[in-house]
Amino acid sequence: MHSVLVTGGAGFIGSHLVDRLIQTDEIDRVTVLDSLTYAGDRRNLSAALDSPKLRFVEGDVCDAALVGDVLPGHSAVVHLAAESHVDRSLRDVGNSVSTNVMGTQTLLDAAMRCGVQKFVHVSTDEVYGPMPTGSAREDAPLRPTVPYAASKAASDLMASSYFVSFGVPVCITRSSNNYGPRQHPEKLIPLFLRKLLTNEPVTVHGHGQHLRNWLHVEDNCRAIELVLRHGVPGEIYNIGGGTDLTTLELTGRLLRIVGMSWDSVATVADRTANDIRYAMDWSKIAELGFRPQRDLASGLAETVHWYRGNIDRWPTPDTTPTRADGAELTAVSG
Ligand code: NAD
Repeated sequence: MHSVLVTGGAGFIGSHLVDRLIQTDEIDRVTVLDSLTYAGDRRNLSAALDSPKLRFVEGDVCDAALVGDVLPGHSAVVHLAAESHVDRSLRDVGNSVSTNVMGTQTLLDAAMRCGVQKFVHVSTDEVYGPMPTGSAREDAPLRPTVPYAASKAASDLMASSYFVSFGVPVCITRSSNNYGPRQHPEKLIPLFLRKLLTNEPVTVHGHGQHLRNWLHVEDNCRAIELVLRHGVPGEIYNIGGGTDLTTLELTGRLLRIVGMSWDSVATVADRTANDIRYAMDWSKIAELGFRPQRDLASGLAETVHWYRGNIDRWPTPDTTPTRADGAELTAVSG
């Protein structure tokens, strides 16, 4: 893979992936295509932008003419651009469908015309829906419960169909919840940290027993790169291996790191369709050689350190969606 187009490269996971790819000797060109929505930020690429390997294109993955201009000459695509927040998808389903489904189809069309060697479509464990027991393998039925997950499931099926119908060499990755520096504070860990570090109370949804697997973003990017290099076209790879924690357990860990007590925590009514448990079998990516390398304790400590140093990056609470009753929406999921 000599030249890679990364969509959504100014976002959380995309920017970490770009940092990784530009340090790879065999890759001599990385192009980021990102429309810089509220979730994208050039500052996420501040180190990478110094590299002569990187080109940044501001634009929309739904813009077929632009995608048709930018993609030729790249040997591979890693597609991360998405509306990635569950609660926003509950408020604006059309936006999630437009970016996540139509944007994916626009890129697949262009990839088909250009004959790329690999198209990695980055997806989520949420497409499997709740797993009260057991764990989902890659061939498990898709049972998304919220529009975000449904739009990702639709885009996964669209990507698979381009492999079967047109031979586009698509691989799909489905990872668990990522954490680490640069995540937008609408997501649970940065939202809680931003509040705790400014002495504001945090709110936990319902009973707080929702179980999620927390994977360091660098581990996810390591796995995505593995799939980019060695993934078999037409295959789906679950990416897990982080640490399983309930929301209350995670909250306890964050409180300990920042040195605060449960007095800073309140509970609010649960949101609709807040899946109780996600769980995946990730033995297939393990066979490709993947092992997570970051442990939660040091990963969370590093994340807290980063937010302490960047606390003024999101100066007002305006970027945090609220519910009709005024309670903040704190997605447990990515
Ligand atoms: P993010 O919200 O931080 O970043 C998304 C990026 O996409 C932003 O830079 C945004 O500007 C860009 N973007 C949005 N709409 C666009 C459009 N129409 N055209 C071009 N760019 C656009 O998201 P993230 O957390 O980095 O997630 C990246 C991908 O990984 C998403 O596809 C998401 O579904 C998937 N994923 C995320 C997690 C997680 O825990 N964060 C877990 C599993 C899968």
